[in-house]
Amino acid sequence: MDKTLFSDGLNGLDTKNKDAVTLYNEISLLAMKCAGDISETKGRRNAYYLSMEFLIGRSFYNNLMELGVLEETDKFLSGKGLDIRMFEEIEDAALGNGGLGRLAACFLDSAAGLGLPLHGYGIRYKYGLFKQAFKNGFQEELPDDWQRFGDPWSIRREDEKRLIEFADMKVYAVPYDMPVFGKRINRLRLFQAEGDGEAQKISEYLYPADDTKEGKILRLRQEYFFSAAALGELTEHFFKQYGKRFEKFPEYNVIQLNDTHPVICTAEFIRLLTVKYKFSFSSALDIAKRTFNYTNHTILPEALECWDEEYMRAVLPEIADIIIRISVYADREFQSLGCDKEQAKEMAIYKGGKFYMANLAVYIAGKVNGVAELHTEILKNDLFKTVNRFYPEKLQNKTNGITHRRWLELCNKELSELLDRTLNNNWRGDISRLNELNGFNGETADAFIEVKQTKKRQLLNYIKDREGVEIPENFLVFAQVKRLHEYKRQLMTAFAVLEVYYGVKSGKYHDLPPCAFIFGAKSAPSYRRAKTIIKFINEIAAKINSDVQCAERLKVVFVQNYNVSYAEKIVAGTDVSLQVSTAGLEASGTGNMKFMMNGAVTCGTMDGANIEIVERAGKENNYIFGATVEELARLKAEGYSPSEYLDNPERCKAVESLIDGTFSDGGTGNFKELYESLINEDNYFVLYDLESYVKTIIQVCTDCKDKKTFAAKQLANVANSAFFSSDRTIKQYAQDIWKI
Ligand SMILES: *Cc1c(COP(=O)(O)O)cnc(C)c1O
Repeated sequence: MDKTLFSDGLNGLDTKNKDAVTLYNEISLLAMKCAGDISETKGRRNAYYLSMEFLIGRSFYNNLMELGVLEETDKFLSGKGLDIRMFEEIEDAALGNGGLGRLAACFLDSAAGLGLPLHGYGIRYKYGLFKQAFKNGFQEELPDDWQRFGDPWSIRREDEKRLIEFADMKVYAVPYDMPVFGKRINRLRLFQAEGDGEAQKISEYLYPADDTKEGKILRLRQEYFFSAAALGELTEHFFKQYGKRFEKFPEYNVIQLNDTHPVICTAEFIRLLTVKYKFSFSSALDIAKRTFNYTNHTILPEALECWDEEYMRAVLPEIADIIIRISVYADREFQSLGCDKEQAKEMAIYKGGKFYMANLAVYIAGKVNGVAELHTEILKNDLFKTVNRFYPEKLQNKTNGITHRRWLELCNKELSELLDRTLNNNWRGDISRLNELNGFNGETADAFIEVKQTKKRQLLNYIKDREGVEIPENFLVFAQVKRLHEYKRQLMTAFAVLEVYYGVKSGKYHDLPPCAFIFGAKSAPSYRRAKTIIKFINEIAAKINSDVQCAERLKVVFVQNYNVSYAEKIVAGTDVSLQVSTAGLEASGTGNMKFMMNGAVTCGTMDGANIEIVERAGKENNYIFGATVEELARLKAEGYSPSEYLDNPERCKAVESLIDGTFSDGGTGNFKELYESLINEDNYFVLYDLESYVKTIIQVCTDCKDKKTFAAKQLANVANSAFFSSDRTIKQYAQDIWKI
């Protein structure tokens, strides 16, 4: 970064009569000009991260921070009577859905921060994840045209575009490079599809509806499109430097497949080596096995992709043939290892006219990893147990992380400054030194109380402006923010809030301190039950917030359009982080880590990374409740009967409110459907865990009355959060898997 050039440019900037968008573009382009080029990657080993999603969020503030000119820009603007927050509404690249996409963005940030050569490949969607608004409490989806004010942080590389061929169409993949700033400048390369109308559709939407054949094929095209473009260029670059010695390709390139979406490129790689560079199939397969690694993100069956041969053949016949050939090699290998028929079938890549992409990934990948200890154990003992038996070296754990630059330094300047004052060390440069905060004294706890209050005030003001819901700042703030999914159990929180509400009204909880529940979540457009839960919570919020009897006691708000920027405010201003997934189903979670690092206690189940959070910060400083994986397994074996657990009047009333006319679902019948699914199945054990959940919430409320002791719990979470920096995660990937 040429800081002098930047300062000169900034000071020469004429801000008069310019709107926010113009200034945003001018300052961003100036920073891009002064930042320098993407770091040289030739002649050494590089790692590549292939991901269908990169949930980047705002680039402006983060990039200026990484480049070391955020403060200067802030000062410059205030000198002109302007507020740097004027750019907040301009951009928020949501090229992802949730945790998986945000993880990809955090990983790139950490690698650049650590000076490691890790580059991203993905899709430059024209429209990111939809913008959410509520109308009568129902979710509405609006297109997210994230480039409408320009895209100064990307550079189009027209000269490097490449043709991607399907059986029925050809399309150009045009690269756009987004530099990732840190100790070095890495590259996030996103491909845009260009060609005639049909071709362009490939990069139009993130996750187009795939409930039709056309939808499924479009999705398949997307996956092939970006991953084939990536492999096309990596092999070509290698060939230019080293000629045909592709057996050395894995010495210079290592590729990480983020979930099953890019797995199709393993077959593309073999196609390139055999067709273009004339390798034999078996040596191409061998080289592939030394190049790729795979990260599994979920054990939910709907996310383990499997493609109908018919669809694949319609658009990618050569790839279909190659996967079948890989499958033949795999079967032979399984037999030679002594697998029986059942075991071979379990691991089969091609069976019943379908391609099993997770099995393909696991077979080809040198290393397969889960994203938290419990999740990896479940992979080893359950989903991939046969793999683990015959390939015991393959499966490993890499617990997720979050970049502390965005999720602490940027989103919580006040806490960062407190850490600067208290720690007297370079924790920003080496986050592991945050551990030295353990043993903090009363003075630090007092200062922390003040910081938390400031962040809470900022958050509640923002919510008042955006949502029109006023929450007094003496309220204890609980938050559950994450994608809407039944397994994440926002519905259980909704019932818990109702139980508390009825208890407050009946006098059962007469001395409960005032508390607020913040929800934030988008539902997939076609996920009926998830949308019903949003409506239900909005109904609850309207009822409670308009009850004058409770005005000083309880507030509920479902914020609209939860995204990275909203998250930055919520994690900093929250007291209690709600992480209440059904045990065994949240692979890791990363929201839990963001809250922890900002000093919220976790109220959650023994699931995903929650387990590792409380292991480090102490169970006594967090609130764990609910059934464990083992308990649920026992319960399932014995036969679970949900209605048995409706044995208390408040709980009954809360659950029955779905059908007794308390709330309206607008005549859709959706509340009744939801109710029946609970009473008859309750696949996610909402009713089973509800009792202990409410008890735990009441316990948190009771404990928070002792401000100092409660702040000490929160601070203990900050002090032990260094492990959850993605710097740690990336170092582990770099050492154990990538060898960079
Ligand atoms: C961190 C983050 C997530 C992931 O949250 P989980 O609680 O781990 O599911 C999802 N969406 C956004 C916008 C995030 O910032």
